[in-house]
Amino acid sequence: QIILAIESSCDETAVAIIKNGREILANVVASQIESHKRFGGVVPEIASRHHVEQITIVLEEAMNQAAITYDDIAAIAVTEGPGLVGALLIGVNAAKALAFAHNIPLVPVHHIAGHIYANRLVKEMTFPLLALVVSGGHTELVYMKGHGSYEVIGETRDDAAGEAYDKVARQLNLPYPGGPHIDRLAHEGNPTIDLPRAWLEKDSFDFSFSGLKSAVINILHNASQRGEEIRPEDLAASFQASVIEVVVTKTKYAAEKYNVKQVLLAGGVAANKGLRAALEKEFEKTDIDLVIPPLYLCTDNAAMIAAAGSIEFEKGKRAGLDLNGIPGLELQ
Ligand code: ATP
Ligand code: MG
Ligand code: FE
Repeated sequence: QIILAIESSCDETAVAIIKNGREILANVVASQIESHKRFGGVVPEIASRHHVEQITIVLEEAMNQAAITYDDIAAIAVTEGPGLVGALLIGVNAAKALAFAHNIPLVPVHHIAGHIYANRLVKEMTFPLLALVVSGGHTELVYMKGHGSYEVIGETRDDAAGEAYDKVARQLNLPYPGGPHIDRLAHEGNPTIDLPRAWLEKDSFDFSFSGLKSAVINILHNASQRGEEIRPEDLAASFQASVIEVVVTKTKYAAEKYNVKQVLLAGGVAANKGLRAALEKEFEKTDIDLVIPPLYLCTDNAAMIAAAGSIEFEKGKRAGLDLNGIPGLELQ
């Protein structure tokens, strides 16, 4: 069973082709980061235009890499949402055109389900499991008792983890996206600056990062008013330590409470070296199986959409040619 998938929810134009749900035949990603950098974030209008320019090129490249024809494809999977509406529509319309022209079933996929299913390209899932989703727009703990079944048991009440990384990076005058830069700096510094940990109510699996972000901004502001130096490495290390401590602790508690067999790490912030190491250390001592995808499957790509799409296809999920992009699509 061969699935072709298209992802265009944000600033990556991506097409992938996978076989039997888990084997990658092609995985092409055209990133627009360079075009958005000087604006310090993704500009929706620019993103849409780049998707239009890139989509056919990326599609052709993926078809060439996989060396297949459209007759070989069982389904076209596409990110339906969440994301930027103009960006989503380019992928959705390309998918609809292909499905119509070649008479192939169309399967809509939730972007976050995709991030979670990136793990299935690494290792088979064992249920029940817990997915820790940490990305540019989401921070969630998702309980899954089977394929395609999602129960969000905790989520951020304000900023997403990646968003907090990018905002803190901006304060330190680091380029967009700031996550990888903070990660690198953090390893050169020491967590000597006292920053808050947002535990929220006892037993809550929700997150909050805006207080931490504000604390960082205040420290920088006060230091500059007093003419003091703050070592960016130490601030990055302290910020990262706060994020990791809360995220890892809540994940561990949730995994125990829900008695899961597996914990999956998902989303762009899953590329964070400090987070990966801290999770490995925490779950090493348990008999819970921790899965962490390679970096190229953590940030946005279409292989993960194909992996989730393969499961949805088998479950009989289909979309008609009236499929639309849904910016605020819920995971359910
Ligand atoms: P969503 O998936 O929620 O719709 P998105 O697709 O924009 O949002 P992703 O592409 O999954 O987000 O992740 C991008 C985010 O990951 C950015 O905020 C970026 O800074 C962050 N990120 C990437 N690498 C690292 C890293 N090494 N450490 C911390 N954050 C990182
Ligand atoms: Mg992106
Ligand atoms: Fe994403």
